[in-house]
Amino acid sequence: MDLDNSAEDLAFREDVRRFLDEKLPADLQHKVQSHKRLSRDDYVRWHKTVAQQGWVGANWPVEHGGTGWSAVQRHIWEEECARAGTPPILPFGVNMVAPVIMAFGNEAQKRHYLPRILNCDDWWCQGYSEPGAGSDLASLKTRAQREGEHYIVNGQKTWTTLGQHADMIFCLVRTDAGVRKQEGISFLLIDMKTPGITVRPIIMLDEDHEVNEVFFDNVKVPVENLIGEENKGWTYAKYLLGHERTGIAAVGRAKRELQFLKRIATTHLKNGKPILDDPLFCARVASLEIEIMALDITVLKVVSSEGARRGPGPEASMLKIKGTEVQQMLTELMVEAVGPFGMPFDRAYLEGLQPHTVTGDDDAAPLASYYFSFRKTSIYGGSNEIQKNIISQMILGL
Ligand SMILES: Cc1cc2nc3c(=O)[nH]c(=O)nc-3n(C[C@H](O)[C@H](O)[C@H](O)COP(=O)(O)OP(=O)(O)OC[C@H]3O[C@@H](n4cnc5c(N)ncnc54)[C@H](O)[C@@H]3O)c2cc1C
Repeated sequence: MDLDNSAEDLAFREDVRRFLDEKLPADLQHKVQSHKRLSRDDYVRWHKTVAQQGWVGANWPVEHGGTGWSAVQRHIWEEECARAGTPPILPFGVNMVAPVIMAFGNEAQKRHYLPRILNCDDWWCQGYSEPGAGSDLASLKTRAQREGEHYIVNGQKTWTTLGQHADMIFCLVRTDAGVRKQEGISFLLIDMKTPGITVRPIIMLDEDHEVNEVFFDNVKVPVENLIGEENKGWTYAKYLLGHERTGIAAVGRAKRELQFLKRIATTHLKNGKPILDDPLFCARVASLEIEIMALDITVLKVVSSEGARRGPGPEASMLKIKGTEVQQMLTELMVEAVGPFGMPFDRAYLEGLQPHTVTGDDDAAPLASYYFSFRKTSIYGGSNEIQKNIISQMILGL
C-alpha cells in the first residue's frame, strides 16, 4: 500500500476542497462544528448537494452511479469532509443496504432502489435488533409468513436509529422457525408507510430522540421486496455488518475533534493556567493523538484491501473498537478540559434556539450532552465485546 499522495491525488484533494468551499452551506457547517443537533432537512440538504456533484457513492462501482474513486481518494474525501465539518451522509442507505442490493438484489431492485438511495429520495433505517436479539442477533423473532404474493410481518424491532424519519426499513425476519436459527432468516425491504407499522421514540441519556421501537402488526410486504433467496438473509446480514463497522471508525471526525479539544484546552484555565499546560493532561492528549494517527493508517489499509474480497472482512471489527474508544476518550477529555462549564445540560442551545448556556460559553455548552451521546458508540454496530470475540475467532483463530 502506497500512502504518499500522487500528483493526481493532490489535484483531487484540491477539487474536493473547492467543492466544499463553494457548496457547504455556512449554517450547516456551523451546526456541525459547534456540536449542535442536525434536523432531517439538514441531512437531506447536504446529501442532495453531494448527489448533484455525483459524489454520494464514494465506494460504489461506476456502473451503479458510484464515483469509481480509489481507496486513497475515498480517504481524502472523508478527511476533507470531516475537516470542513459537513453533516454526515447517513450510512443506512448508501453504505449498508446499497452494497447488499448490489451484491444480492435482482435487476429490478437495483434499478429501483440504487438511484433513489444516491439521491436521498428514500430515507432508510436498519431493522436488525429486537428486544431479545442484539448481540445474539440470529435469535430474532419477527416473523414473516408467506401468503400468496405477500409476506405478513409481525413482531418488533428496537434501537432503530432515526426511524422516525424513515421511508424504508431493511429488516431481518424469520421465515422458517423449524431449522438452525441462522438458516431461517430472510432480508426484507419494507415501506414504512405500510399499514400496521408503529414507531415509538426512545429518549436516550443525552435527551435526544435518535432511536426508536418499531412494531409490525400484520404488515403486508410484497414478495418482490425480498432480497436474494428466502432463508439466506443471515449471509446478507453479515455482509452488511462489515460495511457498517468501517464507517463507525469515523477517523476524519476524530481528527477535527482533536483540534477542537486542543483549542478548548488552551482557552480554558485550571489554577490560572491553560489546562493543556498541565503535563498529565497534555500527555493524555498526546497519547490520544498517536492512537488517532495509528487508526488513520489502519483504516486506509483495511479500505484499500476491500476490493479483492467484496467486503472489509473481520478487520472492520478492529476499526470499530479503536474508532469508538478514540471517540469516547475525546469526549472525556473535552468535558475535563472545560470543567464546571460543561455541566449544564442545555437542550435549547443544542437545537439552535439560543446562543449559549447560563455559563456564556459556546464551546462548553453542548459537551455534557455530547459526552453522554458517545457512550452509545461502544454498543451499536455490534458491541465492542462482540467485536473482540470476532477478532479472536476470525483473525487470531482462537
Ligand atoms: C444508539 C444506538 C443505535 C442503534 N441503532 C440500531 C439500528 O439502527 N438498528 C438496529 O438494528 N440496531 C441498532 N442498535 C442496536 C445495537 O446493534 C445493539 O444494541 C447491540 O448489538 C447490542 O445488543 P443489545 O443492546 O441487545 O445488548 P446485549 O446483546 O443484551 O448485550 C448486553 C451486554 O452483554 C455483552 N455481551 C453479550 N453477549 C456477549 C458475548 N457473547 N460475549 C461477551 N459479551 C457479551 C454486550 O457486549 C453488552 O455489553 C443501536 C444501539 C444503540 C445503542
